Amino acid sequence: MAQTHTVPAETLRGFVAGIFAAAGCAEDEAARIGRYLLSANLAGHDSHGVIRTPRYILWLQEGKVLPGQHLSMVSDGPVHATVDGNFGFGQTIGPLAVDLGIAKARAAGLSVIALRRSGHLGRIGDWAERAAEAGLVSLHFVNVEGGELVAPFGGVDRRFSTNPVCIGAPGDGTRPMLLLDFATSLVAEGKVLVASNGGKPVPPGSLVRPDGVFTDDPAALYGPLIPSGPRDAAGGDGALVAFGLHKGSGLAFMCEILAGVLSGGGTSGPVPGGKRSRISNGMLSIYLDPTHFGAQDFVARTYAYADYVKASRPVAGGAGVLVPGETEARTRAERLANGVPLQPETWAAICATARELGVAVPG
Ligand code: NAD
Repeated sequence: MAQTHTVPAETLRGFVAGIFAAAGCAEDEAARIGRYLLSANLAGHDSHGVIRTPRYILWLQEGKVLPGQHLSMVSDGPVHATVDGNFGFGQTIGPLAVDLGIAKARAAGLSVIALRRSGHLGRIGDWAERAAEAGLVSLHFVNVEGGELVAPFGGVDRRFSTNPVCIGAPGDGTRPMLLLDFATSLVAEGKVLVASNGGKPVPPGSLVRPDGVFTDDPAALYGPLIPSGPRDAAGGDGALVAFGLHKGSGLAFMCEILAGVLSGGGTSGPVPGGKRSRISNGMLSIYLDPTHFGAQDFVARTYAYADYVKASRPVAGGAGVLVPGETEARTRAERLANGVPLQPETWAAICATARELGVAVPG
């Protein structure tokens, strides 16, 4: 396997922002996209980081994601709102939707925001972190309209998108924030992409072939693999598998209902009249202000409980118990200090996009 290319975090953020500015985004939007893509890499979720740059630029050029968009209000009440992201960049629409939820929850103690038709929202943990920084607990259920990739438990045909679920709790800034954030597929699509390029293989049984046999072969998702060729999930006739048997599959199903049906954005399928021209995220978010619930000592009690959980004796040969958010905090500290490692294919693809737009590649 070729060596990874390591880039200092700030250099990478500026480079990616420069690419989006050169592609026509306003400076502030380009800076936000650079910031949030880097944030996913810093958290260790490379599948949702700067690797997305070439694909986002292509979507921008094809008009599938639109720069400079704002939220449109679909319905508005004291504790809820349904908002339309108008296919704007998720890195612009996401924070606007979260800030609306924060403002309503601060006034009423809780709020529910249903977001439809947002561009790709990337790492959902960023939105829970934004709410936590404002002192709020938040829960997020997400789907991808037009992004069918995952077979339901017991089936082989694609019926769900990778539908992430995220729950975050405010911290005190001195310890890692408690943050659960995962796709409801056994592995995220980006991890199959990495495996298809000769990277870390996905665990056996992460995919299912159309004949019902479980596999770890990325070709089930992408079709026959051409070395370094493009990867299109429409090319395969297999599917990703939901995590956690019927329980994870059920959670993925409910994400479609909450983020797709309730928001009005739509489920991941079926597609009326054939293939959808673009994908968009729906997200149902719930914001809770612990102080309105009488939990003035919420943060201290949360950390005390986390300590108790972590004090569980490790399994034989194990390194001990982690709590949600801990791995991300460790990776962030390490990558901020030592740079962000990127697969050679990932770095080459970002640099090729930069050169096409006349952006200098950092030395
Ligand atoms: P994952 O399988 O790596 O799970 C991550 C979660 O598990 C984190 O909360 C982490 O803190 C926790 N965790 C990891 N190891 C742990 C341990 N030993 N003990 C306790 N907790 C532990 O995540 P994933 O499914 O690969 O998802 C990756 C990212 O992809 C997420 O940020 C998600 O939001 C994002 N995503 C986005 C979309 C979208 O449409 N925008 C779709 C799918 C996934």
